[in-house]
Amino acid sequence: METQKPYRVLLFYKYIHIENAETFAAEHLDFCKNLGVKGRIIVADEGINGTLSGTEEQTEQYMDTLRQDPRFADMFFKIDEVDEHAFKKIFVRYKKELVTWRFEQDVDPNKTTGKYLSPKEFYEHLQRDDVIVIDGRNDYEYEIGHFRGAIKPGVKSSREFPEWIRENLGDYKDKKIITYCTGGIRCEKLSGFLLNEGFTDVAQLHGGIVTYGKDPEVQGRLFDGKCYVFDERISVPVNQTEEAVIISECKHCGKKSDRYINCANPWCNVQHFCCEECEDEHKRSCSTACAEHEDNRYVKEQLAKQEEAVK
Ligand SMILES: [Zn+2]
Ligand SMILES: [Zn+2]
Repeated sequence: METQKPYRVLLFYKYIHIENAETFAAEHLDFCKNLGVKGRIIVADEGINGTLSGTEEQTEQYMDTLRQDPRFADMFFKIDEVDEHAFKKIFVRYKKELVTWRFEQDVDPNKTTGKYLSPKEFYEHLQRDDVIVIDGRNDYEYEIGHFRGAIKPGVKSSREFPEWIRENLGDYKDKKIITYCTGGIRCEKLSGFLLNEGFTDVAQLHGGIVTYGKDPEVQGRLFDGKCYVFDERISVPVNQTEEAVIISECKHCGKKSDRYINCANPWCNVQHFCCEECEDEHKRSCSTACAEHEDNRYVKEQLAKQEEAVK
């Protein structure tokens, strides 16, 4: 038996109308600060979307308090156990949209959305050859891990999806389409958008990759690599079986590696795969130009260490 870890990460969302959402966001920030949880929460007129970390007591209290609000009484929380906080600070921000899609015609996921598939149903769909699997996340999330056979989204942010879909998926309108994302929120509107675009048969993974990875029966099967997450862990394992593989490669030497790091040139900062051995040699940089850049953080850190050693 694994021993229980002292901290938890919560992932949750709900599309429901929030009256005076800006005020709600400000009050919610105070509540979170008092409680001591850290993370990122978006509040919009259309609902709430958040991920946060805290101790077991703090996260329990967070969930209890939210569920006392009738609007969030049936909120589903995905829970991960972790060793420490997964965030440095708490942000609660009011935004126009929970996910920035900027569709010409907005989608109300409570009215228009794809059929929900349980992890088991999704797993069964993955094994059919008449099903098109669309990754509803960004390209850099796909790179570290995705469902086997999924189409790589050629997008760097959600707002690029409409154009990418119109340019690349037009031939699939009468096919069976299934979509997935990290926790499910992005598929709520993405599947609705696909329906509005004339796709006839659209379904989505309920609860996202995170829920799929925890399903005791499916155990993350057919997910290759890891799941990108927007906290300090960077990625989490999904496939619990012996089939689990690393699919990404070190940018420098080509060796299999899922170490996703930011380029040490602060003006570049691009996230790239770099194995441990190559980090020093390439000054934690994505290119020679970045390695040689005068503001390179890695070089500065090394200099500081040397100065410390001389003292
Ligand atoms: Zn390498
Ligand atoms: Zn760079």
